[in-house]
Amino acid sequence: MTSSSSIDAEGGCLCGRIRYRVSGAIAESGYCHCRTCQRQSGAPAVAWFALAPSGFSYLKGEPGVYRASDHASREFCRDCGGYLVFREDDPKETLSVNTASLDDPALAPPECHIYCESRIPWFDTADDLPRFERGPLP
Ligand SMILES: [Zn+2]
Ligand SMILES: [Zn+2]
Repeated sequence: MTSSSSIDAEGGCLCGRIRYRVSGAIAESGYCHCRTCQRQSGAPAVAWFALAPSGFSYLKGEPGVYRASDHASREFCRDCGGYLVFREDDPKETLSVNTASLDDPALAPPECHIYCESRIPWFDTADDLPRFERGPLP
């Protein structure tokens, strides 16, 4: 499951205090149904895309950082709560950006579902994308 597309775009949080630029090859793009994403976003699933960390930079503002696990941080706007980035401690891992925070979320369409083991039964999408019980991809 490797995407062949690349991106060169900007995005930000709801209130506009935080803005970012993202560019480079998209390594993966999908929906995450894990409980941590559900709880952090307050939404049934989070659409995300992954790329090399060097392709992401903040243009404005400094995010709040929450560690929900011992290997990664979740970055968000302290003012409006917008959840923006999932960042692994290991800089060789990809960085995930929450797709809906892009100014144009249509640029990074999801290509799979991960953590379907915790998908909420009343939330489903009408697609034939690959579905994985957990993640990340093998
Ligand atoms: Zn904000
Ligand atoms: Zn998740």
